[in-house]
Order: sequence, then structure tokens, then C-alpha cells
Amino acid sequence: MTSPLDRVDTSTAHSARVYDYILGGKDHYLVDVEAGDAMCRHWPSLPVHMRENRRFMHRAGRFLAKERGIRQFLDIGTGLPTAPNLHEVVQEVAPESHVVYVDNDPIVLTHARALLQSSPEGETAYVDADMHDPDAILDSPEVRALLDLDEPVGLLIIGMLHFILPPDDHRLVRRLLDPLPSGSHLAMTIGTADFAPEEVGRVSEEYARQNMPMALRDLPAATSFFDGLELVEPGVAQVHKWRPGAGQLAVDDRDIAMYGAVARKP
Ligand code: SAH
Repeated sequence: MTSPLDRVDTSTAHSARVYDYILGGKDHYLVDVEAGDAMCRHWPSLPVHMRENRRFMHRAGRFLAKERGIRQFLDIGTGLPTAPNLHEVVQEVAPESHVVYVDNDPIVLTHARALLQSSPEGETAYVDADMHDPDAILDSPEVRALLDLDEPVGLLIIGMLHFILPPDDHRLVRRLLDPLPSGSHLAMTIGTADFAPEEVGRVSEEYARQNMPMALRDLPAATSFFDGLELVEPGVAQVHKWRPGAGQLAVDDRDIAMYGAVARKP
């Protein structure tokens, strides 16, 4: 029997594990520590940037559950479990919520159990798939079982669109949105070098050196993903400025290389 661990390549860094390392998690290898340290040397703000990206996900998830009544979620590029995970956020609002998690990293798969601790009233599932193959996601038994496509769905693509390079990026996002009914929402964060071009440029070069090429997008490019959708106030904003809560920490704009937005499908 092959285990997902057989697919884990510990000789090169991987984005999920570098992210876990920088956020203070424990599921990574020496190569990821070395890659993460190198990236933080290039840009010491990286941990703040990643933390604020994660906090955007919490606020966007809560907004969709609370203000928009969304009860089913599809989260692409979930990452290693980091409490609170999306289902914990939305099930706190509505315990009956369904969440389908998707990631292509075998190490995330080995930790998926933590994502499956649903409330008794709700349900969660994990799909081991790549966003480059949206049909594998949409046709998966988990999506078919947990998501009722007659009801609105919250599609989350958080902290990962920078790994989806043009020219496929728009088509792949659209393919995932297409089957979702009116009233569904897209919540997305989008990497940018607009606020610290040199530093973020160096991080991007470091990721490319580690075999993780990334696309950074300026404001018009980031906004273009929401064409035809109804952007929720305040539109496309740096993640720490998107509906900050009362507990929002003071953050320097130059420390945040991520736009975030939520939009409704008409
Ligand atoms: N969404 C989480 C984690 C972001 S880290 C958060 O914002 O906190 C980026 C995640 O995207 C990693 O877990 C990585 O494995 C995953 N990923 C990268 N490219 C992917 C692809 N093509 N398909 C699916 N997942 C991908």
C-alpha cells in the first residue's frame, strides 16, 4: 500500500510547509526551514504578511456565514490545519455548515484528519486535487456529496492564486465559479508587489529558485478576477484593510503583499 507520505518530497521546499514554518507550525522539514529563513532574510515582514492573510480568511469566512447566510464552502489551497480552520470559523456561526477542503500537497493530506473534526450538525471533507484540474475537484465524490449546487456556495481561494500562473489563472477561477448558483460568493487573496516592490520581488525570486514560481499582480490585474461579480465593500483592498475588526493590530502597508476581496455572483 502506498501512503501519501511516499509522495512527500523532503528534498525540496514546498509552499504549504514553508507557510506552516513561518506561521509557527510544526509540520515541515529542514528544507522548508532553510527556504523560509532565506525568504524572511529577503523580507522580514513575511510572517506579518502571512498572519494577516490568514486573518482575512477568518473575517471573510465569518462575513459569508453571518452576513450572507452561506452554509456551504469550497476552500481551494487549504494549507496545513491551523486553528481556527474555515469550518471552525463558519460552524461557530452556523453549526450545520458544510466545508470541502482541497489541496494538492500530500503532507496536507496526511494532516487532513484535523480538518475533518466537523461539528455534529455539519460536515467537512477533504479532496486531494490540483486547481489546475478543476474537473477533478468539481466531480469529486466529496463535492457532490457535501455541496448542493442549487444553493449558494462560498468559494475561497486564499493565499494561493500567486501559484496559479497566467495564462490559465482566469480560466481556472471561472471554471470553479461556473457551476455555482447566483448568490454564491468568491473570497480571494491575491499576492502583489505594489507596496514593497523590491522586498517582495526578492521573495518571489527566492520562491522561483525553490521551484515555486509565483505571479504577483497589481491592483487592476487583481481586480480583473472579479469582473462580472458584485464586489462587497470595500472592494479590493490590502487584506488588513478589508473590514478590519475591533481587534485589528496596527500594520504598516509595506508589510502586506496581499490584496483581498469578496464578491457575489449575480
Ligand atoms: N489557504 C491557506 C493556505 C495558503 S498556503 C491560508 O491562506 O491560510 C498555499 C496552499 O496552496 C498550500 O497548502 C499549497 O499546497 C496549496 N497549493 C498550491 N498550489 C496548488 C494547486 N495548484 N492546487 C491545489 N493546492 C495548491
